[in-house]
Amino acid sequence: MGSMRHTKAGRIFNQAGLIAVMAVLAAGCGKIQEKNFDGLACGSSDQFRSYMNPMDSTVIQTVSIDSAFSASEIRMIENAIASWNHEARLSIGHDIFRAQVLGVSAASIPKANQDCGFPGASGAFSIVKVSNSATWTALGFDQSNPGVTIRCARGVDYAEKQVVLINPSNMAGSLAGIFENVVLHELGHAIGMDHSCDPTNSGKQGFAGCNMPGTDPSYKEAVMFPFVNQNDIREDLRRNDQERSTCALNYRP
Ligand SMILES: [Zn+2]
Repeated sequence: MGSMRHTKAGRIFNQAGLIAVMAVLAAGCGKIQEKNFDGLACGSSDQFRSYMNPMDSTVIQTVSIDSAFSASEIRMIENAIASWNHEARLSIGHDIFRAQVLGVSAASIPKANQDCGFPGASGAFSIVKVSNSATWTALGFDQSNPGVTIRCARGVDYAEKQVVLINPSNMAGSLAGIFENVVLHELGHAIGMDHSCDPTNSGKQGFAGCNMPGTDPSYKEAVMFPFVNQNDIREDLRRNDQERSTCALNYRP
């Protein structure tokens, strides 16, 4: 097609907030705008644009878990994968992820947050541990940002490749304990879900602002809500996550 790819980075930022420590998850930042995905006319109209190019759910995605994660981290990643597989069986009748643990090379890490030169395919992606702060900074992410999903897609197709990067060293102190919540959230981005509401609270058409009047309370209870709070850890999918993932998983270009 000769068209430029665009990346969408589903980011999690820690925000040392005034009230509680939160992580802001701002997706859609830093993308190269070409033919953007318009969203899905599915579910509530104020969420039509809360989607990115969906993952190809017609195949079981091979998810390579970086063997550099600790045993307990791998167990939490497998738990998050199992949560999404359970949901997929309910909504489309089969698993969407098949996990394997293996050594992931440094070449699997994009060189920048708009770099689509990393290896990948539409039916597989990696979850990579990146705890080196220089590597993280070179990607353009903040030191207080514990996870990111970098996705490459064009037009209205399925995402053509993606990679989830997790930085456990950015989950210390007051953000300890959020690991599985972060992975569960990033896998939602991998499926093609943007946040449940717009963290800028702008209330754009098709993408409700998180604190706009009239925003459905279920958007704020979702794993895909753009804030993570250590006092409200979410390790199970909520109604809004279930409804929107059913929309994303049933997408066919
Ligand atoms: Zn996010």
